[in-house]
Amino acid sequence: MDQPQFFDEGALVGVLTAQPIDRVLDYKAPEGGCHLGAYVEVPLGPRKVLGVVWGKGAGDFDYSKIRSVIRVLDVAPMRGEMRDFLIRAAGYTLTPMSAMLRLATRAPGMGDGANMRKIYRLGQGDPKPATEARLRVIAALNDYQGLSFTLKELAEMAGVSSSVIKGLVKQNVVFEENTPRDFPYPRLDPDLPSKTLTEEQNRGAEVLRAAIKTGGYGTTLLRGVTGSGKTEVYLEAVAECLRQGRQALVLLPEIALTGEFLQRIEVRLGARPTEWHSGVTMTERRRAWKMVGQGDAQVVVGARSALFLPFQNLGLIIVDEEHDTSYKQEDGVLYNARDMAVLRASICGAQVVLASATPSLESWVNAEAGKYTKLELTSRYGKAVLPDLRAIDMRSEDLPGDRWISPTLQKAVELRIEKGEQSLLFINRRGYAPVTVCRACGHQIGCDHCDARMVEHRFLKRLVCHQCGESKPMPNVCPSCEAEDKLAPVGPGVERLGEEAAMLFPEARIATLSSDMYSTARALKAQIVEIAEGSADIIIGTQLVAKGHNFPLLTLVGVIDADLGLQGSDLRAAERTFQLMRQVAGRSGRAEKKGEAMLQTFQPEHPVIRAILAGDEVGFWNAEADERRMAGVPPYGRMAGIILSSTDAQEVFDYGTALARRDGPLRAIGAVVFGPAAAPIARIRGRHRVRLLVKADKGVALQRALAQWVGQMKPSSRMRVSIDIDPQSFY
Ligand code: ADP
Ligand code: ZN
Repeated sequence: MDQPQFFDEGALVGVLTAQPIDRVLDYKAPEGGCHLGAYVEVPLGPRKVLGVVWGKGAGDFDYSKIRSVIRVLDVAPMRGEMRDFLIRAAGYTLTPMSAMLRLATRAPGMGDGANMRKIYRLGQGDPKPATEARLRVIAALNDYQGLSFTLKELAEMAGVSSSVIKGLVKQNVVFEENTPRDFPYPRLDPDLPSKTLTEEQNRGAEVLRAAIKTGGYGTTLLRGVTGSGKTEVYLEAVAECLRQGRQALVLLPEIALTGEFLQRIEVRLGARPTEWHSGVTMTERRRAWKMVGQGDAQVVVGARSALFLPFQNLGLIIVDEEHDTSYKQEDGVLYNARDMAVLRASICGAQVVLASATPSLESWVNAEAGKYTKLELTSRYGKAVLPDLRAIDMRSEDLPGDRWISPTLQKAVELRIEKGEQSLLFINRRGYAPVTVCRACGHQIGCDHCDARMVEHRFLKRLVCHQCGESKPMPNVCPSCEAEDKLAPVGPGVERLGEEAAMLFPEARIATLSSDMYSTARALKAQIVEIAEGSADIIIGTQLVAKGHNFPLLTLVGVIDADLGLQGSDLRAAERTFQLMRQVAGRSGRAEKKGEAMLQTFQPEHPVIRAILAGDEVGFWNAEADERRMAGVPPYGRMAGIILSSTDAQEVFDYGTALARRDGPLRAIGAVVFGPAAAPIARIRGRHRVRLLVKADKGVALQRALAQWVGQMKPSSRMRVSIDIDPQSFY
């Protein structure tokens, strides 16, 4: 490997910091010099901040006034391809480089000098004098023969002060040793036996292995119905990548997924991979970051931000459930991890596998156009067959206004209970009821800070705003007319559905699965495992259950409100409903027993509902693609959302209007601007929000024009301007 460029002591270097300054700052290289890409600590005003040596200094400043780099951190320098990736990702998303660097350095304590720490274990002989405290230390170490502890841990365990332990060290009764703080991860073995793949799975695995052997970039869309063994197939790609001596990254949309998933990797590769997501402790984060950087973490399983880890030799990125909306980060840096995965791989010569039962229209179009390789798994593994799908026409069901489980669905559930099989009742709404209304004055309780209704969470005994997270106790009197005991829930949420199920099926064991009902991801995972083993007859769940978990006993899925996603003006409403319904239906009948899925709908003749029922994916995608092509929207055109917000409603509108008028740079590339308009949620956390939408043809240099356009007007300090390239949501 080429050594990166080296700067001798005193040479001028440009350092990029994670501070919001829009330039690279000049410093002098420290004693001993430093490499290009080195992580360094530099003085900035009175502070010390983290930075990366980004290149030669600009030299446009009095040399004698330039300060020195304080120290070079003991981690591998940032590689050239990582710098390229950050620069291009910043250019694509119109994000300042400092914010990009922040994404790439999310490892607390990465600069800690001490890479060694002291640990303590049992030594020889008896303490003299043998005080009670000293004996407690010995007893504690004896209880855990062979294990070693940090000073703090041992002191806590024995209930002594650390000086007692230090005294024992002097007598050699306790040994003190230096060990590396960050242990490498266990080596993985790609040559352990895989499952016996079916012929179709084998062909898929072979295509992916061959792609990896080319050693270059390529993207494959791996499409296959839920349960067809996509995971088994791409694990073979991971194994091949390891054989080539390169690292692999598996991106997953939900942390709740990883428990079951990590186990599958452990079975296939002999040990657990490295995890990277919000549930990982700070110490583990730091360890993962470092080990990835020195090539001692071979496989990382993580959430979207794992894409910014400092891989030394990345050969493969899997994006599982590639259509999932959680790949789009919706605050801070607005990026889509699926697209950034393709960018990163194309820079470092890696393969990408996009896996999904219901690909995004973007990926589907790219595959059709030959930009991605297409790989399909057409049948479910083993005896499992796709469930029968049917609609329940709610217009002809006899159901009171505050009930949601139709008689037809009820009968189907009862049948499953008799047979000892499981049913899933699906509703994509957390909480008890989406609206709380006063029956005296008609007032609906809203959030004080947002234009959103508060959602009752009976489990938490609170009203919660799903926009800003604000919550308050459920009041007894109406906040508007002060009438007592008149507040009533309207509409169903997952908790209320659970209540209805308990009433309809009094003998059944019912489990409600919603992310907010579990205090930790671990508790939720444990519950999912129990359910899979048969601890419940009826599962009531939100979209959490639609993703990836296997419930072998599940043979019925009832979708309470299949129309829910079709409302609203979102460009992707149809696509999302189609994907979600297919995914949920796919939960049923994954083992030997045939499954059934029932969709409660008031519009069974709606084209999306009909496409879902017919299982006509290609037909659906073609129709959807035609519509988007005609409208000139993604993936056939380009879009960007501009969200302006301020505490002052007038200011934000005036700014938006002025901006829209100065659209010269946009017109120059043939782009059009729509708006300003109040955003669908016109106020969040007390900030008024206005949106503009820019539409352009596919091949134009949209980012450059946007930067010029927005750059014409300086916003006040109260205002925030954020640009969302390829917006996924339009709130
Ligand atoms: P997908 O990722 O397409 O939803 P999975 O890879 O999770 O499918 O496979 C579904 C289930 O079938 C899993 O429990 C998996 O272990 C099992 N399975 C798939 N292929 C095989 C195989 N060739 N041999 C044994 N079990 C398999
Ligand atoms: Zn709110």
